[in-house]
Amino acid sequence: KFNPNNNRPQFGPKLLNNDQKSDVFARRQKIEQQRRSLPIASVEKRLVEEVRKNDTLIIVGETGSGKTTQLPQYLFNGGFCNNGGTIGITQPRRVAAVTVAKRVAEECNVELGQKVGYSIRFEDMTSISTRIKYMTDGLLLREALLDPYLSRYSVIVVDEAHERTVQTDVLLGLLKDVQKKRSQKTFHQSNNQANNLAAVKNENNGEMKPHLVKKLNPLKLIIMSASLDAKGFSEYFNGAKAVHVQGRQFPVDILYTAQPETDCLDAALVTIFQIHLEEGPGDILVFLSGQEEIESIEGLVRENLKKLPEPNQKLLILPLFSSLPSEKQLKVFTPAPFGFRKVILATNIAETSVTIPGIKYVIDPGLVKVRSYSPDSGIESLIVVKTSKAQALQRSGRAGREGPGKCFRLYPESRFEGLDDSTVPEIKRCNLSNVILQLSALGVDDIIGFDFMEKPDRMAVIRSLELLYLLGALTDEKKLSDPIGQQMARLPLEPNDSKALILATQFDCLQEMLIVVSMLSVESIFYAPRDKLEESRTVIKSFSSPDGDHITLLNVYRASLEFLERNKEENGKEKAEKNLRKWCKDNFINNRSLKHARDIYNQIRENVERMGLKINSCGDDMLPLRRCLAASYFLNAALKQPDGTYRVLANGQIAEIHPTSVLRRTKSECIVFYNLVQTTRNYVRNVTRIDYLWLAELAPQCYALKD
Ligand code: ADP
Ligand code: MG
Repeated sequence: KFNPNNNRPQFGPKLLNNDQKSDVFARRQKIEQQRRSLPIASVEKRLVEEVRKNDTLIIVGETGSGKTTQLPQYLFNGGFCNNGGTIGITQPRRVAAVTVAKRVAEECNVELGQKVGYSIRFEDMTSISTRIKYMTDGLLLREALLDPYLSRYSVIVVDEAHERTVQTDVLLGLLKDVQKKRSQKTFHQSNNQANNLAAVKNENNGEMKPHLVKKLNPLKLIIMSASLDAKGFSEYFNGAKAVHVQGRQFPVDILYTAQPETDCLDAALVTIFQIHLEEGPGDILVFLSGQEEIESIEGLVRENLKKLPEPNQKLLILPLFSSLPSEKQLKVFTPAPFGFRKVILATNIAETSVTIPGIKYVIDPGLVKVRSYSPDSGIESLIVVKTSKAQALQRSGRAGREGPGKCFRLYPESRFEGLDDSTVPEIKRCNLSNVILQLSALGVDDIIGFDFMEKPDRMAVIRSLELLYLLGALTDEKKLSDPIGQQMARLPLEPNDSKALILATQFDCLQEMLIVVSMLSVESIFYAPRDKLEESRTVIKSFSSPDGDHITLLNVYRASLEFLERNKEENGKEKAEKNLRKWCKDNFINNRSLKHARDIYNQIRENVERMGLKINSCGDDMLPLRRCLAASYFLNAALKQPDGTYRVLANGQIAEIHPTSVLRRTKSECIVFYNLVQTTRNYVRNVTRIDYLWLAELAPQCYALKD
C-alpha cells in the first residue's frame, strides 16, 4: 500500500551534462527555426483571426506548408482552448495521426499524451490535460456515439479532406449538424440521445457523464485540404470562406518509361538502383500499394545491395505503412547518416498525409490500392487501380519540396493523359453497411436523405441495408435492433466481424472467435520470401488445419502464446519477447503483424467484456467455431463447381481459392471466406470448410433447402 510517509526515493529533474544540454538546446533551436521558415508561419495571425471571425473555415495549402503541425498550435496559442475546450484534428490514416502528434509534442516541448496526444482505434495516447488531439476520422465518429454534441471540443479540424474517405464524408455531414445544434441556445434531449446516454452510463459503470447538461460554446469547424479546389467544400458549408496558404515548390523533372512495364516491382527495383548509382545526393521515395509489396521489395533491395561494391552499399531502406510500429514509422524523418542515401518504401500515406524531409527523387508506379464495391454482387474488395492525375501530381510534388527534383513515373507518357482527373470519393465505391450502422446509432435513420457532400449510390445503400437486416442489426422499420444492432454499433469492427463475436457466445467459442477476428484484422500474418517459398510452405504446414485458414490462424496465435508463456517462466519477459521474434522468423511469421493482432485482441476483448458477453471457449473442438463462422459469414458462402472453382451462393460470382490458403488443394464442397480479392482473377482468401446444410439451419433468413 502506498504510504506517503515512508522513505521514498526522491525524484528530481534529470540532470544533463553540459554536452547534453547544448545538444538539447541545438535541437530546440533547429525546430524553432524550421517552424518559422514554414510557408504557413507568415500567415499565423491572419489564420487565427479568420477562425475567430468564421465558424467554418476552409484552409487550402500545398502539402508540406505546415497545415497539420502548425495550425493547431496557432489556435492553442490564440486562446481557443481557454475555457477547457480541446482542439481535435482528424486524419484519414492512423500513421499520420501518430507521427504528427509525436512531432507536435516535440515542437511544443511536452510529453506525448499530455498537452498533445493522439487517439486511434485500439490505442489512446491522451489524458485529461490533452488540448491538441490528433485522431482518425473514424475515431471521432465513434466518440460522437457517446457524446453527440462533441462537447469537449472547441475546434474540430478535418484534415486531408481532399482524400474524401468515407469516414471523412460522414464526419462532414455529422459535424455540420453538430455545429448547427451547438449554435442553438437550448437543447432538447431526444430519445436517441437518451439511448446514447444509457450507453455512456453502462460504459462508465453506471456513472453518468455530466457533459450533456452544460451549455456549450459554438463549434469552430476547419476543413483542410491539399487540393487547390475549395469550391466543393465551400458550397457544401453554405458558402464558407476559403483561405489559401501559399506553398513553395521547386521544379520537378518528370520522366516516363518508353514502354508500359509488366512487372512494376521489378521496374521499381531497377529504378531505385539506377538513381542510387547514377544520380546526385538526395533521398528516394517509392509509392507502393501495400505492406506485402513493400516487404517484398525491401527484401529484394537488401539482396541486391549486398552484391554492390562496399562504397555503393550506403543505402538505408525504410518502410512506411500503417501497421508498422510507430517507432519504426518515425525513422523516416531522421536524416540519413553522412554519405548515406535513404530510400523510403511507402504506401499512399506519403502522398499528402505526411511530409518527409530530404526527398529529391520520387518513383511512382502509378498504382494505388482502393476499396471497391459492387452493389450487384454485394461484395467489397480491395483492388489496385491506376492513380488519378491529381494523385500523380501530388506524388511528383514530393520531390520538389526543398529543391529541384525528379519524378520517375513507371509508365509511358501517353498513359498519363488517359488518367481520371481526380479520385472518386470512397463513399461511391464501398460497402456502406458500417456507415449505416454508425449513423443509425447516431439517430439518423434516413440514409438516403442524409446531407452528404456527395450522395452514395442508391443501389449500394439498399444492398447495405439488406446486409444489416440479414445480420439482424436492423429491424423491419430500419431501426437499430436491440440488443444485436446496438451491440454491433458499439464494436469498432466491420458488421460481419461484430456479428461473429456476438454470436460466438452462443456457440461457446468467443475466446477463439476473438483470436480469429484479431488475426484477420491485420495484414499478412505469414510472409514467404520469394527465394524461400518452398521452405516456408513446409514450415507453415505445421500450423495448418484441414478445416481451413481461420483455424490455422488460431493455431498460430495459440502456438505463439504458448511459446511466449513458457519462455517467460524460464527467461523473463524481455528475453521471452526477443525469443518470440526469433521464433516468428523461423516460422515465417510476421512478428509485427502478430504483435498487432495481440494488441487488437486485448482491446476487443475488453470491449466485449464490457458489453457483458461471456468469454467461453470450445477448447480443441473446432466444430462450434466453424458453425459460428457459417452463421456469421453466410453471405460469403461458396459451393464447389465441377471445374474446381467456387460459386458464391449469394450472387453467383465465380472465384478460386487463393494460392496462400491452406485449402487450395483439398477441395471442400462448401466454404465460407473472409475476403475476395480481384486481380486478374477472383480469389477468395481466408477460407474455412463448412457443411452446406448448416446454411439453411443457421441462416434461414437467407437460405432454404430445395431438396
Ligand atoms: P502539411 O500538413 O501542410 O502537409 P505538415 O504540417 O505535415 O504540412 O508538415 C510541415 C513540416 O513539418 C514539413 O516540412 C515536414 O517535413 C515537417 N515534419 C512533419 N512531421 C515531422 C516529423 N515527425 N519529424 C520531422 N519533421 C516533420
Ligand atoms: Mg497535412
